Amino acid sequence: LIAAAALVLSVSACGSPQKTVDQQSGSSEGALVGVTMPTRSSERWIHDGDNIKKALEGKGYKVDLQYAENDIPTQANQIENQITKGAKLLIVASIDGTAITSQLQQAADAKIPVIAYDRLIRKSPNVDYYATFDNFKVGVEQANSLLAGLKTRGEGPFNVELFAGSPDDNNATFFFNGAMSVLQPLIDQGKLVVKSGQKDFKTVAILRWDPATAQKRMEDLLTSTYGGAKVDGVLSPYDGISIGILSALKSSGYGAAGQAYPIVTGQDAEVASVKSIIAGEQYSTIHKDTRQLADITVKMSDAVLKGGKPEVNNTKDYDNGVKVVPSYLLQPVTVDKANYQKELIDSGYYTADQLR
Ligand code: BGC
Repeated sequence: LIAAAALVLSVSACGSPQKTVDQQSGSSEGALVGVTMPTRSSERWIHDGDNIKKALEGKGYKVDLQYAENDIPTQANQIENQITKGAKLLIVASIDGTAITSQLQQAADAKIPVIAYDRLIRKSPNVDYYATFDNFKVGVEQANSLLAGLKTRGEGPFNVELFAGSPDDNNATFFFNGAMSVLQPLIDQGKLVVKSGQKDFKTVAILRWDPATAQKRMEDLLTSTYGGAKVDGVLSPYDGISIGILSALKSSGYGAAGQAYPIVTGQDAEVASVKSIIAGEQYSTIHKDTRQLADITVKMSDAVLKGGKPEVNNTKDYDNGVKVVPSYLLQPVTVDKANYQKELIDSGYYTADQLR
């Protein structure tokens, strides 16, 4: 009966605009929302999941929250299960933004709207909205912070190495392009030297953002390229990768008495990295307040579930290969030793104890 009602109410056979719970059953009250997150191996996703669940439950929704430990088939199964369980909305932080196309088609067939969370879902028409941070700006800020750090070390030219995130995560390209928009002109002028010569995204990308892979790549770079020379800076897109890079550097003698670490950037303000920043090892991170992201996503969800139109602030930058997905972009904040107290402790994101 519900399926029949949904069919009658369906706006058009070709998909958009998505049906809402209101239209289907007259009420979105207590509806089930399926939330899928990539992995628990990085703190940020745990915060994201917890924050979204709490806020949705606060609005009376039921939540099925799943983590896939970076395994693509697991995430695909979780989404299928949520559809089977009768979810009325899906919030997806994808592992591989192109690998869940058939699950999203199932969702569309069942008139279940989909919100891409933090990472864009690519190559599918069946994604309605996107909530994220300004990902290009994250990269710009990482590069600016790398330059600010290098400035404290003198005039240069400086030897730098570049790392990027997982090639199947759309964000990784945005971060890298943002960073290179700042760094490339300085590389062209010879003020920054990528001594390994490894500069293109594919060569410097780290599959699944894996810290061990990053550590290995940094070790290889040190051996192959830095015999007598010194690395002055490393563009790192994510705190986990920064930790891998810093351990490779440490094994090779950096950080020992009288030997400063290179300027190493990061992202996510994860506890271990903030501690490292306080200890003068990692130089900076990009703080993306997951409370804000959860908040905006829950507002979007509530609007969609109630049959309204959520607020968006970008309708041009996030083309997923099939359509431009209406997006809400939040602002990232660079955090280093000088402002971590204000941005992370005074703001209530962490307690002072957590960072001791
Ligand atoms: C997120 C980053 C995160 C990275 C690794 C990206 O999609 O936007 O915040 O550092 O994934 O988890």
